[in-house]
Amino acid sequence: MGRITLEGVQKSFGPVHIIKGADLDIPDGAFVVFVGPSGCGKTTLLRLIAGLEDVSGGRILIDGNNVVDVPPAKRGLSMVFQSYALYPHMSVRGNIAFGLKMAGLPKAEINQKVEAAAATLNLTPYLDRKPRELSGGQRQRVAIGRAIVREPKAFLFDEPLSNLDAALRVQMRLEVTRLQKQLGTTAIYVTHDQVEAMTMADKIVVLNAGRIEQYGSPIELYQRPANLFVAGFIGSPKMNLITGAEADKHNATTIGVRPEHIGIVDAGNEGWSGKVVIAEHLGSDTFLYVDAGALGTLTVRVVGEKRLNAGDAVMLRPEPSRIYRFDANGNSMFA
Ligand code: ATP
Repeated sequence: MGRITLEGVQKSFGPVHIIKGADLDIPDGAFVVFVGPSGCGKTTLLRLIAGLEDVSGGRILIDGNNVVDVPPAKRGLSMVFQSYALYPHMSVRGNIAFGLKMAGLPKAEINQKVEAAAATLNLTPYLDRKPRELSGGQRQRVAIGRAIVREPKAFLFDEPLSNLDAALRVQMRLEVTRLQKQLGTTAIYVTHDQVEAMTMADKIVVLNAGRIEQYGSPIELYQRPANLFVAGFIGSPKMNLITGAEADKHNATTIGVRPEHIGIVDAGNEGWSGKVVIAEHLGSDTFLYVDAGALGTLTVRVVGEKRLNAGDAVMLRPEPSRIYRFDANGNSMFA
């Protein structure tokens, strides 16, 4: 089992409030991603769960037991860091086995667990190599192997892929999610990359300045963002936000439309008129940045190739059912 519950968790460093009362219920077996801008408190929240920091208030429950006074090693969690934290002088086998040796397990059992983990992670051919003889992706797999053999209640990942190049990151992203589903072990994963969050998570926690802005599935966050912060953070390119007279028409302080929900219609139709400032032709998509006068510069995403260039006049039409409305406090006003 590995259900993790936070109840009013707070953390201050001296006078500074970093985590301002977090409530969260992570079901057993879920893959939950903490995402948010730099400094919002993602790593701090993960370290509180791990026990590497003490809470200033509130409770952390693992399978119903309050663990705030339980030392990290006794919480039954395994942490995987961005830096891998491998021992350079030890072989892959030694690195994966290390925690089990410390725990005093019999040698035969250690060997059996290490070999099973290596097979799962495609590391069998590398068991006798040293970390310096491995690629970045292989090193990260060793770090994950070390976490797996301890058979934890949950894995805690702190930006584990950020040292890898873009292509390898995409590959490892798939491997980590596949492995987590195969093992069925609860996972909490910290990243500042919203695409990583959207592709890996069963549920995402969006953090901003020490508060949880929203907790939901990737599609819930995309389709029903609770407020302006989540609306602007989830989705790439970002949602267009418009204030002023156009928002007033919808009885809102701000309206939002995602770039993929704005179409280009023929001149003479009703819509928002503008002029293309920049056109990015990616082949699969065309991104247009359009100066729409009082509405500001709007981003438009058109599937496929669209023969438009800087200077061209365009008429834009938002899909009416895809216009989000926000009140003066920035909260979503759903119909
Ligand atoms: P990033 O994506 O940049 O890693 P993060 O969301 O993980 O950011 P945290 O590392 O949790 O952010 O830090 C949150 C805030 O807490 C930051 O303002 C940071 O400076 C502060 N902070 C973290 N650890 C300490 C500490 N030990 N003492 C004082 N302040 C700290």
